[in-house]
Amino acid sequence: MSEIPQAEERVLSTLNTDGSRRWVRPRVSKGKFYRRRLFTAWSLILLFVGLPFGRINGKPLILLDVPARQFTLFGRTFLPTDTFFLMLLLFGIFVGIFLITAVFGRLWCGWACPQTVYMEFLFRPLEQFIEGGRKRQLELDRKGADARRMLKYPIFFLLSAFFGNTFLAYFVGTDRLGHWIASSPLEHPAAFLLMLTVTVLMFIDFTYFREQTCLVACPYGRFQSVLLDRNSLIVGYDPSRGEPRGKLRKGRSEDSGDCIDCLKCVNTCPTGIDIREGLQMECIHCTQCIDACAEVMAKIGRPTGLIRYTSKAELETGKRRFLRPRLFLYSAILIGIFGVLSFSLSSKGSADVTVLRGLGAPYTRLASGLISNQIRLKIVNRSTGERSYIFSLKDAPSGVEMIAPENPLIVPPGGDRLTAAFINAPVGVFSKGEYHAALHIEDGVDYSIEVPLRLLGPVTQGEK
Ligand code: SF4
Ligand code: SF4
Repeated sequence: MSEIPQAEERVLSTLNTDGSRRWVRPRVSKGKFYRRRLFTAWSLILLFVGLPFGRINGKPLILLDVPARQFTLFGRTFLPTDTFFLMLLLFGIFVGIFLITAVFGRLWCGWACPQTVYMEFLFRPLEQFIEGGRKRQLELDRKGADARRMLKYPIFFLLSAFFGNTFLAYFVGTDRLGHWIASSPLEHPAAFLLMLTVTVLMFIDFTYFREQTCLVACPYGRFQSVLLDRNSLIVGYDPSRGEPRGKLRKGRSEDSGDCIDCLKCVNTCPTGIDIREGLQMECIHCTQCIDACAEVMAKIGRPTGLIRYTSKAELETGKRRFLRPRLFLYSAILIGIFGVLSFSLSSKGSADVTVLRGLGAPYTRLASGLISNQIRLKIVNRSTGERSYIFSLKDAPSGVEMIAPENPLIVPPGGDRLTAAFINAPVGVFSKGEYHAALHIEDGVDYSIEVPLRLLGPVTQGEK
């Protein structure tokens, strides 16, 4: 039988050198940062679950209705015609991520990312409650699963169904989701399949894929080297204090550093790395190694902070600079983006009106001698209720009339309608082949606008 080829060194903290899975079974270190993260995590879990249920003015706080191409954020609906606002918003979010990462490093990954929050504060504690601590888990990995480990799977599946469907509510809304849950899967097989898929994906993620989501699937860690600079906040090991490391035993040299090579920081790491090897892409800055090492330092009577929140510059020179040009640049761009966004949104009415010329000939001469221009009118109702839009010609001279088969035009909330109208005018109102009119549109509630119209007609002999 051919031998399994071995890599020279481990290429990923979750793979053994023969390519098999290396299960990371961290020992939870319940120090100062863990307690703060625990509070943050459960506040966030409540927020993540509650957000799709929240309402402002009858609208969801968040609803990303992809099929309808409508995004509702904090009671404000962005329609497919709002590409500019969405682009600005997305660009602002990206620059915001750049700024926060430049200052606070991977604070999001360690403290607020749903993957970390659910894994480290729900699924992992529950798993250790069922299976036992790190030692017993490693033993099970060697010997094979027992009944307790098997019990974990149905529980994880039920949790995945709950949290997976809560996640789905961000995209389909709680009303539709509630209807799906309450009715038979046979009534809506596609929706049922969607709910099942999300549940299974979440189950696989938290049961099998786990930290690999951060290591191989999430692009954020890979951008880390670009987003961080020498002064960004990182979780770092101080080699000037810790090295040369050496076991705590009789005859330990006086020149030894503070690191007693106890491996507690390694054994507590949820991504399975050794922070003493320096800043690594796999480090999600979860602070578990800070807590683990602080406990060790307290025990051996050394000051805490051998592993701490620091920066590369501080570790190398002892100094850290907070204000840097890139922070000013990111902040200036952010202020610009959100300034334009807030101004544009606040000056936007409850409807969008587009007036287009009719298709075909620029005008037609009617049997009555009047010149007829066709216009097409598209109205997007951005409000939360149905609206009736009445349109009329403003200050039209005698003989000019508008014929509209649908006036008022009724538009549902968040929807749009297209209608056509004809404006008939005597030849005399045209000057050099043009007549400039104004179309007044109002909904009788809070929307009123005047749109200039350029109507075309014949050019008389003397005007050429
Ligand atoms: S926990 Fe602290 S003392 Fe122990 S190996 Fe890690 S850095 Fe060294
Ligand atoms: S090295 Fe420390 S901070 Fe980084 S992921 Fe591991 S335990 Fe968390």
